[in-house]
Amino acid sequence: MKQLVAFSNFYGADPDLVVAGGGNTSMKENGVLYVKGSGTALATIRAEEFVALDMAKLLQITEKTYPAEDAAREAEFLADILAARLPGEEHKRPSVETLLHALFPQRYVLHLHPNKVNGLTCSKNGEAEAKRLFPNAAWIEECRPGYILAMKVREKIADGADTVLLQNHGVFFAADTPEQLDTMLHSMLDTLDSAIAAGYNTALDVPPALSGPFTPDHIVYCGLGPDLPDTDVARQSWDSAKKIAHYAASFGGQKPMSDDMIQFITHWEAESYRRKQA
Ligand SMILES: [Zn+2]
Repeated sequence: MKQLVAFSNFYGADPDLVVAGGGNTSMKENGVLYVKGSGTALATIRAEEFVALDMAKLLQITEKTYPAEDAAREAEFLADILAARLPGEEHKRPSVETLLHALFPQRYVLHLHPNKVNGLTCSKNGEAEAKRLFPNAAWIEECRPGYILAMKVREKIADGADTVLLQNHGVFFAADTPEQLDTMLHSMLDTLDSAIAAGYNTALDVPPALSGPFTPDHIVYCGLGPDLPDTDVARQSWDSAKKIAHYAASFGGQKPMSDDMIQFITHWEAESYRRKQA
């Protein structure tokens, strides 16, 4: 647990890796998943802010059939996640990505929204470039977070993926030691540094428009514009959007979130919870 807190605080302190309450981390031990609480920040999270959940109950969720309609599915899914909390944990709310953390067989999971990674995942040529630069990483097309995302990644994990790139979102790494996670992250960032330098096209380097968010974070922390909320978190998140737009110029130019995803995130209860905590 000490190691989990240490690497969570370490990566959380770098605004180029994650802003405010974005990203999450977890550890598995003796059939228990310890995952970041929703609305907590990696930079400052303490051991008691991780939520302990029963791994067996979490994995049962993958056997269930949920309603197709968004609101009904998300309500039932959330209830099942909350029901997996260990006794004494009922006052905490686990990360929206809890099921995904449970699905990786590795001991530690690190999920970040690095600006350089999102320069790739929020770009027009993102998928092709991801396959070229990171042939062993899984690529997941933009999709609803939580249950839908976890079930999509589940197939890739079954195929052995320990690195997952999420379009218009970020990256997941899974490993048995924090040192391995660090190596995986830095190897990806080094590869991106070279690719960003090699592919840079000044004609594609245009500022992001407030009307077109890149990731759920930008909706949660910057709103949908036109005016930026007057908060430090909004400014940090907007700085991140500007960097993503700049890096995306190396990968065919920026690709904002689809209207369908914007609608979903804007109305999703889990994200309005996170917005209130910010
Ligand atoms: Zn995320």
